[in-house]
Amino acid sequence: MTSPPRVPLADRLARMTSSSTLRVLQMTEKLRAEGIDVISLGAGEPDFPTPENIREAAITAIEAGFTKYTSAGGIADLRRAIIERMRRDFGGEYGMEEVIATVGGKQAIFEAIAAIVNPGDEVLIPAPFWVTFPEVVHFCGGTPVLIDTEPTQFQLTADAVRERITPKTKLLVVNSPNNPTGRVVPAEEMRRIVEVAAEHNIWVLIDDCYLYFVYPPVAPFSAIGLPSELRDRCLVTGSFSKTYAMTGWRIGYALGPSEWIKAMLMIQSHSTSNPTSISQYAAIEAFAGRQDSVREMLDEYRRRRDWLIPALNDIPGITCVMPEGAFYALPNVRGVLADDLPTSRALADALLEHAGVAVTSGSAFGAEGYIRLSYATALDDLQRAVERIRDFLDRR
Ligand code: GLU
Repeated sequence: MTSPPRVPLADRLARMTSSSTLRVLQMTEKLRAEGIDVISLGAGEPDFPTPENIREAAITAIEAGFTKYTSAGGIADLRRAIIERMRRDFGGEYGMEEVIATVGGKQAIFEAIAAIVNPGDEVLIPAPFWVTFPEVVHFCGGTPVLIDTEPTQFQLTADAVRERITPKTKLLVVNSPNNPTGRVVPAEEMRRIVEVAAEHNIWVLIDDCYLYFVYPPVAPFSAIGLPSELRDRCLVTGSFSKTYAMTGWRIGYALGPSEWIKAMLMIQSHSTSNPTSISQYAAIEAFAGRQDSVREMLDEYRRRRDWLIPALNDIPGITCVMPEGAFYALPNVRGVLADDLPTSRALADALLEHAGVAVTSGSAFGAEGYIRLSYATALDDLQRAVERIRDFLDRR
């Protein structure tokens, strides 16, 4: 039998790798389908159901027949709800041509980068980073230039940004609260960072995915609240996935300069068309309806974090800083790496295979020597997972 011809994949894919967070999710699903007991601390996916008021809004939308195409950038009521919510929470004023609803925050990020990055452009990405940022830059022919935040306990500073700027720098990506470190850029530092970008004619993409999950005394802050001459440099993306446990609904948004949004809309009109009509009605309820479920989820994440971080620090060879936001722990595991487990990827693979615990290797996030644990997982599962990790490390 002759083998089928090889598909000549496009050159622009050669520098890309597929999503490691989604790979862990797939591996976990596969092992579970085989009957293996795996505790999943891999992909960051809230374990809560989507709140009832949001589910009901979607059911009402279906029954009312809102199941057809909408305008590509989202229905006016949703775009108004996004603008209104951002105005209320952060004081930012946006017009209707400065907002777009997208298929998850990920589509907003993809389109934002694709809309302005040319081959040869440099894009500053603080490391550790969410896995998707450098891959989209690669796809667009740009060059990711990493800013190592490990020396400043993962805190991004304006000085560190300034040092990495070259004449080719086009865009800076900031994700705060950060996935995977949990660090939050303080409001004053965010302002300085955007000032540095503006001085050098650089644009800023701000990923607000975990905006509402910050732990007191830190308060939610968005660049949306910056003075307009700075905000005009920024495109802010957001997501309903984490805040409202809506990962499967695929609904996100972006707010920014109208030219940038218009270009994103053009990409969207030729790729996905509109975000799912039903999800758009659910998202209106999410932003405009009652917020008690968000507070409950945040309280629960805080309880888990407060248990998990000391428990990780209690394992010999592991140290972990206290995250200020999001729902990830990023323990430093260099103290347990050795010849039999030389890298964080080897450790992550071994934990999955021999301990039944799915975690993501730090190398996927530009953080070799670390692993990422999602604590959007029930506390007893977290407790069992830490016990399994400890046992595995004790017996090797
Ligand atoms: N953003 C989540 C994570 O980092 C979900 C998976 C993904 O889209 O990367 O785990």
